[in-house]
Amino acid sequence: MIIDGKAIAAQVKASLQGSDAKLAVIMVGDDPASSVYVRNKERACAEVGIRSCSRRLPATASTKEVIASIAELSAWADGILVQLPLPEHIDGKKVLGAIPPEKDVDCFHPYNIGKLLTGEAGLRPCTPAGILHLLGDVRGKHCVIIGRSNIVGKPLALMLLHANATVTVCHSKTKDLASYTRQADVLISAVGKPRFITADMVKPGAVVIDVGINRDENGKLCGDVAFEEVAAKASAITPAPGGVGPMTVAMLLKNTVEAASYQKR
Ligand code: NAD
Repeated sequence: MIIDGKAIAAQVKASLQGSDAKLAVIMVGDDPASSVYVRNKERACAEVGIRSCSRRLPATASTKEVIASIAELSAWADGILVQLPLPEHIDGKKVLGAIPPEKDVDCFHPYNIGKLLTGEAGLRPCTPAGILHLLGDVRGKHCVIIGRSNIVGKPLALMLLHANATVTVCHSKTKDLASYTRQADVLISAVGKPRFITADMVKPGAVVIDVGINRDENGKLCGDVAFEEVAAKASAITPAPGGVGPMTVAMLLKNTVEAASYQKR
């Protein structure tokens, strides 16, 4: 089975129609990939009726200037996100820490990460939340994650634990990676390398979630998984593009609507 992230994301978006939430997106510099992501987010907001406002700062902007923009947009927006990556001279920790936690729709603020760790209700990071939505019930399943980033691997591990999965996290220093991946009922790859996961690394009947966004040798978008050969062995698999990506955007919109409703209480 191919897990149609686009269709499932459309269902999530349909459930959000009619919200009067407001999202502010701050982008620093003109990274082409980031520009595409910001445009997609703006378009998705428009689809469900969320009002959005993007502020583009020059690559030369200072940490202080980015924080000043956050403060200014906070007066208007229910949700604020700062598109990553930021230019190197900017103190990313300071910037993310300046987003009011109740408006932190990406869930990168240490306060929200703390709530995630302890399992307290609140905003959840978009990509892991999208993956959990796709997976449904994972109770008792062995989920093997490859990648330990703050954006995907680590928060996903926590969320799967809270959902009663057994979780293994592998990374670049893991020895004999395939010995872990072959034990996975659910295999999630968040590495960022084309054709990284091949059929010999997958248990027959496993569910495979491909988080990677890469370009292949022809410049075409692709995930981490050698799709054809792994699809033949897996019971379910996400395509990339068209799997986790659309879910990430849908969860951003859901977080924005939730943030707006928390702030009204
Ligand atoms: P990252 O570069 O921060 O992390 C990559 C991880 O892969 C690291 O933890 C590293 O330890 C691990 N890794 C690298 N080489 C490895 C190896 N040989 N064996 C085992 N582990 C290895 O990246 P990230 O931000 O977590 O993103 C990962 C990928 O997911 C990228 O392609 C990114 O573009 C994509 N991504 C997609 C979405 C989405 O919405 N679909 C969201 C976030 C990230």
